[in-house]
Amino acid sequence: MIAKALPNTRQSKYCDRVKNVLKFKCHATNSEILSELNKTFPKLSATTVHRITSRLASRNEIGIAPADKNGAMRYDANLMPHDHFRCSGCDLLRDVDIREKIVPLFESSIGNCQISGRLTISGLCKDCIK
Ligand SMILES: [Zn+2]
Ligand SMILES: [Zn+2]
Repeated sequence: MIAKALPNTRQSKYCDRVKNVLKFKCHATNSEILSELNKTFPKLSATTVHRITSRLASRNEIGIAPADKNGAMRYDANLMPHDHFRCSGCDLLRDVDIREKIVPLFESSIGNCQISGRLTISGLCKDCIK
């Protein structure tokens, strides 16, 4: 017989919920995570969500994505290094992997200076072009 798992603390129960919301949305701000979780936990506060996301990020259980257009921090469910496409119309963020293709091209045109970090390319998504 499998032993019953020890009861989780409140916070760790929310940790999993936060990770699930993020996995579903791919990228989300604290307030997006909060409003999603408030559907199930109306008493959950912004402070608690903030504390949980900072803790998860410091443990590298969630990543940091480019901020939204109001400058709010966005978290990332994808922990692998990757680049982003950001729609300047609807603020959509999409994971892409273009560094390998684009960086050599850029570097050769800037006198072989080195580009560091991952890339964020801005533009309009399919829906916003319509
Ligand atoms: Zn868009
Ligand atoms: Zn991402």
